[in-house]
Amino acid sequence: MRCSVTTVALPQLREAAPAPDEARRERIARELQSLDVGEVRFGRHERMLYATDASMYQVEPIGVIVPRSTAQAQKAVQFCIERELAILPRGGGTSLAGQCVNQAVVIDFSAHCREILEIDPAGRTARVEPGVVPDQLNAALAPHGLMFGPDVATSAHANIGGMIGNNSAGAYSILYGRTVEHLVAIEAMLADGTRLRLEEGATLRDERVRDLTQRIANVILPREREIEARFPKTIRHVDGYNLDLLLKQLKASKPGTFERVNLAHLLCGSEGTLAVTLEATLNLVVAPQVRGLAIIAFNNVDQALRSLTTILGAAPAAVELVDDVVIGVARENREYRHYVDLLPSPPRGARGAVLYVAHFADSRETLHRRFDELSRLFPQHAINRYDDPRSMASAWQLRKAGEPLLHGLHGPRKPVTFIEDTAVNPDRLADFIAEFRGLVARHGTTAAYYAHASVGCLHIRPMVNIKETGDTRLMQRLAEEATDLVMRYGGALSGEHGDGRVRTHLLERFYGREICDTFRHIKAIFDPKNLLNPGNLIEMKPETMVSNLRVKPADRIVDVPPVRTFFRYEREHGFGEAVEMCNGAGVCRKMKGGTMCPSYRGTLDERHATRGRGNALRLAITGQFSSDGRTPKWDDPETKATLDLCLSCKACKSECPSNVDIAKLKAEYTAQGFSHGVRASLSTRLIANLRAINRFGSSVHPLADLAARLPPVRGLVNRMMGFHPRRQPPAFGQSLHRWMSRRRVRDDAAAPAIVLLPDCFTTYNEPHIGRAAVQVLEAFGYRVIVPRLGCCGRTFLSTGMLAESQRVCSATARELLEATRQTSAVAVVACEPSCLSAIKDEWLELDMGGDVNREALGELAEKSFLVEQFLERAWTQHPRRPIESSGDKGPPLMLHGHCHQKALWGIDSSAALLRRFYGGRLRVLDSGCCGMAGQWGYQREHYELSMNIGEQSLFAPLRDQPDAIVIAPGTSCRQQVHDGLGGRRALHPIEVIAQAINVEVGV
Ligand SMILES: Cc1cc2nc3c(=O)[nH]c(=O)nc-3n(C[C@H](O)[C@H](O)[C@H](O)COP(=O)(O)OP(=O)(O)OC[C@H]3O[C@@H](n4cnc5c(N)ncnc54)[C@H](O)[C@@H]3O)c2cc1C
Ligand code: SF4
Ligand code: SF4
Repeated sequence: MRCSVTTVALPQLREAAPAPDEARRERIARELQSLDVGEVRFGRHERMLYATDASMYQVEPIGVIVPRSTAQAQKAVQFCIERELAILPRGGGTSLAGQCVNQAVVIDFSAHCREILEIDPAGRTARVEPGVVPDQLNAALAPHGLMFGPDVATSAHANIGGMIGNNSAGAYSILYGRTVEHLVAIEAMLADGTRLRLEEGATLRDERVRDLTQRIANVILPREREIEARFPKTIRHVDGYNLDLLLKQLKASKPGTFERVNLAHLLCGSEGTLAVTLEATLNLVVAPQVRGLAIIAFNNVDQALRSLTTILGAAPAAVELVDDVVIGVARENREYRHYVDLLPSPPRGARGAVLYVAHFADSRETLHRRFDELSRLFPQHAINRYDDPRSMASAWQLRKAGEPLLHGLHGPRKPVTFIEDTAVNPDRLADFIAEFRGLVARHGTTAAYYAHASVGCLHIRPMVNIKETGDTRLMQRLAEEATDLVMRYGGALSGEHGDGRVRTHLLERFYGREICDTFRHIKAIFDPKNLLNPGNLIEMKPETMVSNLRVKPADRIVDVPPVRTFFRYEREHGFGEAVEMCNGAGVCRKMKGGTMCPSYRGTLDERHATRGRGNALRLAITGQFSSDGRTPKWDDPETKATLDLCLSCKACKSECPSNVDIAKLKAEYTAQGFSHGVRASLSTRLIANLRAINRFGSSVHPLADLAARLPPVRGLVNRMMGFHPRRQPPAFGQSLHRWMSRRRVRDDAAAPAIVLLPDCFTTYNEPHIGRAAVQVLEAFGYRVIVPRLGCCGRTFLSTGMLAESQRVCSATARELLEATRQTSAVAVVACEPSCLSAIKDEWLELDMGGDVNREALGELAEKSFLVEQFLERAWTQHPRRPIESSGDKGPPLMLHGHCHQKALWGIDSSAALLRRFYGGRLRVLDSGCCGMAGQWGYQREHYELSMNIGEQSLFAPLRDQPDAIVIAPGTSCRQQVHDGLGGRRALHPIEVIAQAINVEVGV
């Protein structure tokens, strides 16, 4: 290298500024509010929702700013620089090493700075804002046959800004490397308030960049030998700043120009400590024509990894390891247990590990040749092959959820994220793991493993109890010994997740003093006042690793105190575990696929994601929102506001890898509030007692409907119920009971009996659906009984009136049990999914004391179905089977499932029977939540968001098919279709089946 170099003494970096006191914080917030910087969130509640990421830490930020544009973000950063306030840029907040929590002003880019600014297909580049999500980008690139190479497991919700911050890499890094290998340029805001475009060649155009580069060269070049000796040579290494890359670029530059230097590459992986990314230009790769996945089963991890070199010889795009611990937790998980079935089992012995072998090819023939080659190489092993996108995506699910799934392990010792992404050369991985296992065993614990095996990057989760001081000391020892082990193997301390709070203190042990001084020097050049994410990568003490733990934020364990709960928490292993279950991985921030979480999708607001609610509940219940920091705060208005936009759709219960069940916790929290003196509002009480209102309305039908249409009456009803003026309260009909009592049907005592659940909607509001159900069931040869029962409790449960729910549900449960016993009913069938879900879900979880036999409730739940689900399940056993119509001609049928149905027993519960009658005409919509969720969408304050959620994925496909028959089992979904699509009518599946078998629905 021939450019001029001056050796410079290490400058003193300023101590990180202390957090402002409350008075100053308020002043700052006021000042910010008067500027145009976006949303200013400096209240304690909102701040605390940003005190955690996906790591084990909790650090209270100074405040949060959610800019509506990068221009606003720039202004906010400028303000913080002028006031010397620490700054923490944030994307999806999915970091695992604690680099995304700090005593700083958080700038949340994820909500609004998510525009794809430009795609240049010819130049194969994309220019994006930092809040763009990789999956969002790839969807926009797909029509051009291009994609962004690094494919992180969090691609559905991480941000490009965060990927740059962490220099992230994904499963295909054997082909595509890390983010830095795809970074062309960054528009950066520096800590001195300047905005620079950093890219290769910038030194030739911009004097400021040239000056900056010169100063960097002055500190890097004298350490050439040390950098070459100390930096790992593995594909995956992300510890510290990228001195090795910069050194190469400096050496490749012509004398005095630095024209090959790209300072964006120094920012990449700097964890927000050097500059703030306002925009990035990325290079793109050609998307593979054909993808395939083979999964090979092994008896143990060692056997799997010893096969790695052979597999790598067959040029795969990725090889990923999953061990039996991860497979075990997946089997216990509501959603992920289905994906375990997609794994092969070894012909002999237990399945101790699987390898996912991904292939990219130019044709299916080449792909199949590759698969055959694998089978030839592993003749003794079971191999499952996947080559269609749908089944492949399903098969990948389990691997992608490996990390969050591990948080589902119960017991005091958990698989904790602190030595979780070492990387060694793949040919040494088996030996490394064997030694690592020995190390963990010597310290009296075990670990879970999964790995990006093709690049030697190993996720190790030793089992420790971070609440125990003995175990936190053990963590420190294990981390140090693991560092030494990695060094012996010539590997990287972090191949993926970065340094943050967990590893910064190990950097000196790993790289040595000289390299770490160079890091400090570079930090001082960029950020002499130490304002940007202070501490990370530069200065942390060994004890930082186990300080500010989420369970022990101020060195005091914040436990959930003993509470007499309304629900039982056996499934979650206690109320305490239920409250602390969210691990922050942020899967609930995904925007596509499944339903979780409709209110996040509608608002893009951390506060209104499942994670925000999980955090709010944990903080309120562990007393962290109370003045004494200990006593649960059951009446916290801010926590209630955070819970308010939860639709209680239950999607998180099945889609969150930890099965966090916010609907249940929200109801529990609200109920605890009621029992601690909070009064239920009039509208809450009216909604809870909806059955009584509906029964009365039905008894004076049609008068009630005529009156309800009169504007003053409608206005009054809407006001009392808290409904939005644009919502029409449900109409009434002649009660199903009355219709049943007036019918003249021959009672065939020999026919098997079915109890039809008389939910209040089917009984009083839409009795034509109840009539259709009765007549279709009779057509199939059943004797239908519609007993007179009380409420299933749904409206009490969803309003959090759990004391009343216990009374109402136990009374109805006793009546229903008696009705099924007396009639020897073979099944209980329901038309309304949300009422069936009460029986199958909440009745089993609600503490009903000794009032109802739990075993009997379990049996009742087992024999309770949606009416169409029952007809399909018992297809071969029906006493009669009406002729199947040939329904293949006519308009398409579009089925939208109810959220509870999708979460608890799947949309096929409605689709299968419809498919039998209508075959290919049926299209099952991937429509998430309709946005209504019972009374939620009726409420005045929820109307806009409710419609917005409907727009997300339901209204558009229906608008595109104006002639289609819309089918929705849920009454509120049908209402939402009506209100959102100008009065369009949606039918219940049983009405459509009635048409198919020519059953006349009586009046
Ligand atoms: C379940 C799970 C699986 C994961 N799998 C992978 C994987 O396969 N590969 C992988 O590499 N990582 C993985 N990670 C880690 C993490 O998801 C990735 O590093 C991800 O790219 C981080 O993106 P983010 O938007 O969440 O970043 P954040 O956590 O929000 O931020 C990351 C860092 O970047 C900084 N930053 C964010 N935005 C900016 C900005 N605009 N300007 C400057 N700095 C900024 C932050 O300050 C922080 O230091 C996983 C994490 C989890 C929980
Ligand atoms: S709620 Fe579930 S998906 Fe969301 S961050 Fe928490 S654990 Fe992850
Ligand atoms: S119940 Fe539905 S709306 Fe509420 S947090 Fe879970 S996914 Fe979100």
